[in-house]
Amino acid sequence: MLLKKMAEVDVKKGLKLILNKIDEASKRRNPELQALEPRLVAVSKLKPVSLILDAYEEGQRHFGENYVQELEEKANSPEIMEKCKDIRWHFIGHLQTNKVNKLLAIPNLYIVETVDSKKLATNLNKNWPKFGPPDSKLKVMIQVNTSGEEEKDGVPPSEVCDVTKYVLDECGNLQLDGLMTIGRFGYNPADGPNPDFISLKRCRDEICQNFGLDWKNINLSMGMSDDFEHAIELGSTNVRVGSSIFGHRPLKPKE
Ligand SMILES: *Cc1c(COP(=O)(O)O)cnc(C)c1O
Repeated sequence: MLLKKMAEVDVKKGLKLILNKIDEASKRRNPELQALEPRLVAVSKLKPVSLILDAYEEGQRHFGENYVQELEEKANSPEIMEKCKDIRWHFIGHLQTNKVNKLLAIPNLYIVETVDSKKLATNLNKNWPKFGPPDSKLKVMIQVNTSGEEEKDGVPPSEVCDVTKYVLDECGNLQLDGLMTIGRFGYNPADGPNPDFISLKRCRDEICQNFGLDWKNINLSMGMSDDFEHAIELGSTNVRVGSSIFGHRPLKPKE
């Protein structure tokens, strides 16, 4: 009980602190960006439902999860179903096509941020009507491998236009909500603007120009605990922050 109480205090405090920092970083942006409020996605992977409830109570609505099965269990847990009716789940992990139906069936799934191939887009597009409200579209982001690291998922920047065109033209059940990158680990902002963030923004400029999209409607999902302020200064509209809110995580299990 005591442990739970302490954890409660921590999450609410951590959340306030991060929201404050987001606000401060927002004010340091170019005037043209001032109208856009960056969205905080609280990444709750490997953390218990009790901490999600704490953050929700504090007003947080967007939560990110990496593993289909873990998200399925959390989203369907009686406490979440009862107390968090307005929760918005962001799937931010690698999605295998054989798990698409399992993911799409999850209540309050808000967006899939990690579309990294036409094959996955095709699959999501085909299956969404079985799960979503009639005539609704599933929000998706295209994940871009801006750092070119081999172990990272995502579309290379040079193919973003091609995949975007495919989603816009061939995937009537999907709505392109933005572009997402994880970026290289451990970049030091003291060395200048993070090249991954610059690259993602460039990809957005390119698709907006090529397909007549309004850049204000295409989110940039970039920035995590270590660099979300830097990412916001460079135009991020969707930061994914986990450990700074919920505390350090145990090591990742293999799914
Ligand atoms: C885990 C994770 C995060 C959050 O990372 P923190 O460093 O804990 O803030 C953000 N995005 C993705 C894709 C993740 O897997």
